Amino acid sequence: MVYLDNAATTALDPRVLEKMLPYFTEVYGNPSAIHGMGRSARLAIEESRKKVAQLLVAKPAEIFFTSCGTESTNTVLQAAVRHLGCKHIITSPIEHHATLHTAEKLGEEFDVQVHLCKHQSNGEVDYEDLKILIEKCAADAKTMVSIMHANNEIGIINDIERIGNIVDENGAFFHTDMVQTVGHVDISLSDLPVHFASASAHKFHGPKGKGMLYICSTKKIEPFLLGGGQERNMRAGTEDVAGIVGFARALELSLEDIESENTHCLNLKKYCWEELLKSIPAIKKSTVCENTLSRVLSVLLPHTSNTEMLQMSLDIKGIAVSGGSACSSGALGGSHVINFIQKDACVPLRISFSKWNTKKEVDELIDALKSLLA
Ligand code: PLP
Repeated sequence: MVYLDNAATTALDPRVLEKMLPYFTEVYGNPSAIHGMGRSARLAIEESRKKVAQLLVAKPAEIFFTSCGTESTNTVLQAAVRHLGCKHIITSPIEHHATLHTAEKLGEEFDVQVHLCKHQSNGEVDYEDLKILIEKCAADAKTMVSIMHANNEIGIINDIERIGNIVDENGAFFHTDMVQTVGHVDISLSDLPVHFASASAHKFHGPKGKGMLYICSTKKIEPFLLGGGQERNMRAGTEDVAGIVGFARALELSLEDIESENTHCLNLKKYCWEELLKSIPAIKKSTVCENTLSRVLSVLLPHTSNTEMLQMSLDIKGIAVSGGSACSSGALGGSHVINFIQKDACVPLRISFSKWNTKKEVDELIDALKSLLA
């Protein structure tokens, strides 16, 4: 199989698995237990927390492990309304559904208004419009702003420092979904005007079902999950020790390799785009934005009988790509992100690379596309 769907999830790095295995088979004690095996498990969690904090330039007390990026985002948005007293949530129409659906639901159930900011034609947030929106909402009542660092479907990277500064000037709260950037972009949380951030291990060769929530030490929220004092009362439930160890090891390895991985993916992306253009002249990039994730190439093909079932036809040929995001595949009406940025009927294809992909695999994709579209 040629796997070119690394924005959806990545393969577990064998070195991560190696580090995790003893916590399934040998050190399986409950980290809350006072016996030796419990204490060893607790130590592994706290060492992982320290490592993650060091790698993301934060304090260990600001790092909380969760079950996934979705849970981290839910925790923040729910707390914003239920506990921080926010009456406005500002987000974007092209956020991941972890943000959009949570905000919409809160808007239905509570006395809170959900505002969607405007975007520039390249898909990046319209910072000027966002500034006006934040000023207006924050002057009225407590406001939570939740804007993603990078978009999972088209790869554009927003200037979260700029957004965070506007948020700070207006005394609002700022959460950013960093699921697509942690492990792939150098991030120093303590240097960013960000109050809350979500991340997920399976996007950088770590285990699935292991997330992280960063809560800046100046902010306090109540937990989303109740029923235990784990994670310093922020996230109830017996800790997934192996997953936490895997999160920290995967982040460590990704950041060690960050430059070579980014150069490798960028070269594949450039090569892939040039070859696509040669073979399919009508193809377009989803965004003309220069500042995009190095591993995501999002393209749009004309809507024809040949392209309609393209993703499935490629799958039959052993090539895994995505039509948008993995989470919205199969959703009626297609991707909300592509529908927002592109009004003409088109077929989106997201090709996303990892450090393990090769030029030969890109050639296989191009050959398959040529034969399918001939
Ligand atoms: N946010 C973004 C931008 C994502 O790409 C994803 C995963 O596809 C998520 C949130 C959800 O993360 P998780 O799968 O860990 O719940």
